[in-house]
Formats: sequence, structure tokens, C-alpha cells
Amino acid sequence: MRTFERPIKRIVVKLGTSQIVDNRLRAKTTELRRLAAQVAQLRARGIEVILVSSGAIGLGMGELNEKKRPTDMAALQARAAIGQALLMRLYCELFKKVSLKCAQVLLTWDDFGNRARFLNARHTLEAILKKRVVPIINENDTTSTEEIKFGDNDKLSALVAALLHADLLVILSDVEGLYDANQKVFEEIAEITAEIEGAAGGTKNARLARGGMKAKIDAVKIATHARIPCIITAGKTDNVLSRLVKGERLGTYFIEKKEKLLDGDSEHEFIRSHFQNRAGR
Ligand code: GLU
Repeated sequence: MRTFERPIKRIVVKLGTSQIVDNRLRAKTTELRRLAAQVAQLRARGIEVILVSSGAIGLGMGELNEKKRPTDMAALQARAAIGQALLMRLYCELFKKVSLKCAQVLLTWDDFGNRARFLNARHTLEAILKKRVVPIINENDTTSTEEIKFGDNDKLSALVAALLHADLLVILSDVEGLYDANQKVFEEIAEITAEIEGAAGGTKNARLARGGMKAKIDAVKIATHARIPCIITAGKTDNVLSRLVKGERLGTYFIEKKEKLLDGDSEHEFIRSHFQNRAGR
């Protein structure tokens, strides 16, 4: 079994586009229904769950019966605007069935770069959690183009985990974890070495998922430096969230750094530095 440094009371769960839509760009309703049930189970045990969910562009493309991802930025942003409404409708319906409510929170990188906005975002999210409502976070693709270009919300999930001092970041993927050269999943990683970076190749499903394992490892680096352990694992595994929280050895576990947790201004500076470095990704 895995043991965590501190009890898991709050987790951020990241769902990429491949967790939300199938290859025909239809919502994966059955899988998402199971996810909602798992979130309800965790909530019943007093664990707060925050979802960082992609899928807006995918659902928007599906709604327009498109097969090919547009390359033009405004066209992508339009798909995101169309799909985001469908995404939230889906979550609201599925969560309602397990007696949970959810809230849409759309963030941009500027929300992390500016201290006042950073604190506003934190206070709003804390207020949502206090009402036992599940925040569903996505990048505000209509005005911000960063994540569309560079990833699939991986980095956003790490910044959100840091913003909310989460006890665990779970990145759900369509693979079992990070594979080594022999196609075996790394069980536990304490240091992201050149070998680990090398193991994280690009994405296979370029039409849907953006950024692949490399973007996930970049996200893990941010979260572990903010003293948040991370797990990359397959979203399709039965009861994955409850099993992870209980310490079952699923996926690849990235151990958090041991340095003292940054607080106040230095904490914001840490997050801001990742915001400023974004152009270098
Ligand atoms: N935030 C985007 C979405 O919800 C993900 C990024 C992308 O597909 O490029 O669809």
C-alpha cells in the first residue's frame, strides 16, 4: 500500500479530452456517471474533490459534426464556447443523480499571474467547496489561448492544486501511467530525471488529446514542488479514485518535494514563475 505524508482531505482530479469524449466525439456518459458516483463516495467520506476538466473543444466539434480539429485559433475558441455549455450540462445532470451540485469555474493564466486575482480565485473556490458543491474548472478558452496551444489542462490542474493546497493531484489518462523503456509502468518516482523526461514522449491521440505525457510531467513538476503528491493513472480503472485514496498502488506515483510549503507572497511568486515561464514550454 502507498502511504501519503498527510491525510487526503482534498483532491484535484484532472480529466483530459480523452476522458470526456470517445473517438466519435460523443460524451462518454457511462464512464462519467461512474466518476460522479466515485466523487459522491469520496464526498461522503469527507474528502473534497475539485475537477479540472477538458472536453469543451471535443464536445463542440461533436456538436458541429466535425471530424477534423480546426487549426484556426478563433475556430477552436468557438468550439470551446459551444462545447463548454454541453460539458457543464452533462456534469450537472450526472452529479444531480448522485445528489451533488456542481459549479463552473473558468480560469485563465492571468488569474494566476496577478496576486489579487489569484486570491479571488482561491476565495471563490473555497466558498464553493464550503457549500459542498463540486467545482468543475476549465481554462477560459474563449479569451485565453494558452492551454489550447500547449496542453490539455495538465498545467492548469497543477496550478489549481497549488492554489487550493490540495493533498493529492490525480491526472486521469488513457494509459496506465508513465512507462519505462520496457513498457513497464513506473510505480513510484521521487525525482524527475532525464531518464523520466525521456520516457515521456508526445501524445498518440493527436486529434483529441494535446500535450501527451510531456505536459503531464511538466504539471507533476509544478505540483510536487508545491508539496503535492501526484498520480498519473488510467481513468477507466474501476473505482480508481477511492482505491487511490486508500493507498492502492495504481498508476505512477510522484512523491512530493520535502521542502517547507511556501506561503503568502512567496507561494504566489512560485506559482507566478510558472505562469511567466509558460512561453518556454
Ligand atoms: N481547455 C480545452 C477544452 O476544454 C482543452 C484544450 C484543447 O483541447 O486544446 O477542450
